[in-house]
Amino acid sequence: MTTPIYRNYYRQRTANQWRKIPAEQGDPSAIRPFLAGNWKMNLIPRAGVALAARIFDLCHNIRDVDMGFAPPFTGLSTLADYIEPDFLQREYGIGRNVFLLAQDTFFESKGAFTGEISADMLAAIGVDRVIIGHSDRRANLGKYFGFSSSVARRLSKSFLTQSHLRLSQRENPDIKILSAIAHLLEESNNDVLEGLEKFLEHELNERAGESDEAIQRKVHAALANGLQVIFCCGENREARRAHETFELLERQIRIGLDGVARPTMHEIIIAYEPIWAIGEGAKPAPPEQIAEVHDFIRNLLMDLYGEQVAARVRILYGGNVKPDNICEIMQLAGVDGALVGGASLNASDFSKIIRFGLPN
Ligand code: PEP
Repeated sequence: MTTPIYRNYYRQRTANQWRKIPAEQGDPSAIRPFLAGNWKMNLIPRAGVALAARIFDLCHNIRDVDMGFAPPFTGLSTLADYIEPDFLQREYGIGRNVFLLAQDTFFESKGAFTGEISADMLAAIGVDRVIIGHSDRRANLGKYFGFSSSVARRLSKSFLTQSHLRLSQRENPDIKILSAIAHLLEESNNDVLEGLEKFLEHELNERAGESDEAIQRKVHAALANGLQVIFCCGENREARRAHETFELLERQIRIGLDGVARPTMHEIIIAYEPIWAIGEGAKPAPPEQIAEVHDFIRNLLMDLYGEQVAARVRILYGGNVKPDNICEIMQLAGVDGALVGGASLNASDFSKIIRFGLPN
């Protein structure tokens, strides 16, 4: 027997299991899947509008699911103008189910933060939702910004010798720091220093990025400015192999959403994106693993916010979602949509993903 695909549904928990209960198509109080395209650092504004137009063309009259587009910051304003609901309704028979997404935001509202964009700036140009904690930012910043080589340099003998001299000349030098540096500089510690340098270089290269605490501040800044949050979480390959997936996800969610009050949870969408399943060349997570993690996250939300909230919070899956696997993924009782990278840059592929379960 094949599992049915529902485009609109309610969710119930019976015998400790979450289930989708079909709803009338377009029922305003039912759960609407959300298919969100993360364009990452691709497309100039004009090209973004052209892509969106092709997708709308292929999704005429689709009003029963939410669709979202996350262009780079430079493409937001142009796309905001284009996706004006009356225009979309007239041209394509769609409208209020199209959402403009930003790929990130900063937690401070203004000031000397060169290159950052605040949540109120995003809200002011018509952004509806913001992706927070994407793994590109949680885990890859170290690689790109070179924290690791900069820390490694600080562990060289010459840097430590100069630092020791500089610090000891201060009026009230921190004795603990001075003695730690002096200790590292002892001849017998050469190997320790070299090992430490290698260890930190590797750690930072692999792991440096946004912390759970910074992500929590971004969540609150977004909510305070009326933006909904697409909160990303997910484990890397190492954590999965070490059977630490659930522990890590629990930490990401507990810290990242700490302080979000129960009534505000309807502004939160969670995206489970296992890092090992993301991007070109990777394979999507197997459906059993997606189902297991989505149930885990939903049960955690039930502990934190109660069953009613847990049943309704949309949990998306992300990681190589394509036209040929979206139906299987959407059949899972815990999945409410997808966060799509590569395939969202192709109009034909992304429209097929939006149209999951419908005849071609
Ligand atoms: C992503 O980067 O969020 C993503 C899911 O990418 P892809 O669909 O290309 O794996």
